Amino acid sequence: MKRRLGYLIVALSLLLLAATLAVWARSYFRADMLIHAQPGRQTALSSHRGRAIFESMGDDAVPIRSALSGWRQWAHDTDDASVPFMDHPSLRAHRFLGFAYADVGSVGLPTRRMTALAIPYWSIALLLLIAPAIAFHRARRRRWNERHRHCLACGYDLRASPDRCPECGTATT
Ligand SMILES: [Zn+2]
Repeated sequence: MKRRLGYLIVALSLLLLAATLAVWARSYFRADMLIHAQPGRQTALSSHRGRAIFESMGDDAVPIRSALSGWRQWAHDTDDASVPFMDHPSLRAHRFLGFAYADVGSVGLPTRRMTALAIPYWSIALLLLIAPAIAFHRARRRRWNERHRHCLACGYDLRASPDRCPECGTATT
């Protein structure tokens, strides 16, 4: 049961890793944006130049035109002028290794508040590599123990004890 869960996590990690690599590569020649607008607030998730960017902008005092409400999605060239707010040179953001965070009271429009968070795809890819790396390391150690006749449970040398591990009691197969 525990082992099957381990396989599931590794398979899921590899699947998400493949998707992340595809989106990561695409982000250098297409900028994707998913926007949700409602009165008072506009939220956007975009993929741009190696990062996923979450932006939330709004103020209860500023109603968004009803024509803009709901979900919208588009893709355009990354050279397009409409880059994410996060990348505007005038915006002061905390930046580190591709990560960025900005929380500003105004972005030109007097009452709008904007919060933005950028996460580089390399960090997501690295997280998704953890489970497969652990599984790979364990499989290698298991193969080594089998080949060298060491206990599969504790690694004790079994060349002198054919039936049962004298160290931990595990039966040898
Ligand atoms: Zn043992």
